[in-house]
Amino acid sequence: MSELQDLYQEVILEHSKHPRNFRGMENANLQAEGYNPLCGDHYTIFLEVEDGIIRDISFQGAGCAISKASASMMSQILKNGTTAEAEELFEKFHQAVTGKESGKEPDAVGSLGKLEAFAGVAAFPTRIKCATLAWHTLHAALKGDQVVSTE
Ligand code: ZN
Repeated sequence: MSELQDLYQEVILEHSKHPRNFRGMENANLQAEGYNPLCGDHYTIFLEVEDGIIRDISFQGAGCAISKASASMMSQILKNGTTAEAEELFEKFHQAVTGKESGKEPDAVGSLGKLEAFAGVAAFPTRIKCATLAWHTLHAALKGDQVVSTE
């Protein structure tokens, strides 16, 4: 069961049980819905963006522990940051969990901070979309798209 232990790190379990910013948002000016048909994860990400700053971010929906923890940690990290930083982190996170780094940039995962907890997901191809769903949905919302599917 060590594989599961690697995958479900404590921080992931904690966020999935007590998700941060898990609520709707009436004054959102950007939002998108994301689906991961492979697992059944389905979330809506809400954003209040003003002058390139993410003033507020929240999410609603349902899914597995990994997808929920990923959305929770993402919302916590991106709040009060810029949309440019959010896009940059999306790229880094995506590269880290899809394993595209393969040692080329050894410090890329290290620069993810708490999101490093998801790096272990790279070894489990069926769970990668669970970890990246919230980020793909955020990316869609920032581009002005309203629905995104990982399939
Ligand atoms: Zn999932």
